[in-house]
Amino acid sequence: MILDPEVETRSWEEQLELDDASYRAQLAYLLERSPLYRRKLADHGLESPADAGGLADLGALPLTDKQELRASAASDNPIGDHLCADRSELVRIYSTSGTTGTPSYVPVTARDLDDWVTGSARSYAASGVRAGQRIVSTYNAGPFVAGAALDSFERIGLTHVPVGTGATERLVLAIELLRPEAVVATPSYAAHLVEWARERGFDLRASSVEHVLVAGEPGGGEPAFRASLEDGWGARVTEAMGIGDIGISLWGECEEQDGMHLGARGFVHPELIDPESGEKLALEESASGELVLTHLRHRAAPLLRFRTRDQVVIRTSPCACGRTGPRLRCVGRTDDMVIVRGVNVFPTAVREVVRGFEPRVSGHVLVRPTAEGAKQEPPLPVRVELARGEGLDSDLADEIRARLRDVLVVQTQVELVPFGSLERNEWKSKLIER
Ligand SMILES: [Zn+2]
Repeated sequence: MILDPEVETRSWEEQLELDDASYRAQLAYLLERSPLYRRKLADHGLESPADAGGLADLGALPLTDKQELRASAASDNPIGDHLCADRSELVRIYSTSGTTGTPSYVPVTARDLDDWVTGSARSYAASGVRAGQRIVSTYNAGPFVAGAALDSFERIGLTHVPVGTGATERLVLAIELLRPEAVVATPSYAAHLVEWARERGFDLRASSVEHVLVAGEPGGGEPAFRASLEDGWGARVTEAMGIGDIGISLWGECEEQDGMHLGARGFVHPELIDPESGEKLALEESASGELVLTHLRHRAAPLLRFRTRDQVVIRTSPCACGRTGPRLRCVGRTDDMVIVRGVNVFPTAVREVVRGFEPRVSGHVLVRPTAEGAKQEPPLPVRVELARGEGLDSDLADEIRARLRDVLVVQTQVELVPFGSLERNEWKSKLIER
């Protein structure tokens, strides 16, 4: 079902025209209110909105990095120099977990939040869930932006059953007793539930669940991983993706399962860059690069050309669902990418190849680069966990190594480890250990 047909089936050209007007207004707002962008754009020789031109000229403007936002946060302004709205205009301040320990804050105004929910509702409705159905969610409405996505279920007209994070028994009980049509979880948690149910003899396949909506980390769209989830759940798996500093569930996959559509149309403008050089790439069929996003009508702390660090692959061929515009698949975090003899390797891609060896392997892998930074000398060490009861078998290690070499053109050193020895994180998979 298309929640907002007028918007979602509008031609991409027409969308870009509308977005151009929004973008010019956003730029004027940034120059008026954002200390960060006044500074960045002045350094770039731009003093007035007219100097910067329109959306077609966006590629000439500087990129924004997460570190810049963090670096500009100070005790008198813990949000950072990108804060534009007055204290009284903010309705919520979310946090992102971050790796440094100090959270970074993501504020929103009432309209920002409403735009988030509108875009997120379009993205989740694309999966095929519809008004009157029940959905069990496994996120908490806690400090993180993902909690805002919960409001989008009501917007679609779903009956929302929140069970929270890590409450596996409660989740399975809710499935048994309340018979929901849909479950939303991270791909790792959805996979964990398959393992959990299998060990306890609970038949997930026979449950009422028809849709498993995954979000929160890359991987839900990898064919072998998805096939294994769909088999375990007896349900269709579609993915959605948001970016903490930009918005929730910006992208959502439809029932064609051929990449995620931009649910946040009109609110966010996507670009693609080469992650090494920062050069802009065309949004064309099969193009691969880092996703860069620009707010079009954000008020609290709008961002211009924000580097998401997500490596994506673009699809532009028409989608049978009728939604228009480019769609994408996220293949991994650019921070997790390793380069072996000039070849880019994502841990998610390694997992995808290894999943081809199920049921002999559990599907859990750990890439363990030895050198600092992205560049690695071959062979790249990879730990592969065996399936339960599977004995160590050096032929299997050789087979996996050969398949990784053929598919990813990378020399690896495969170490098989017994079932259960790789760390399980129910929420997000740890695929790389430096
Ligand atoms: Zn579609």
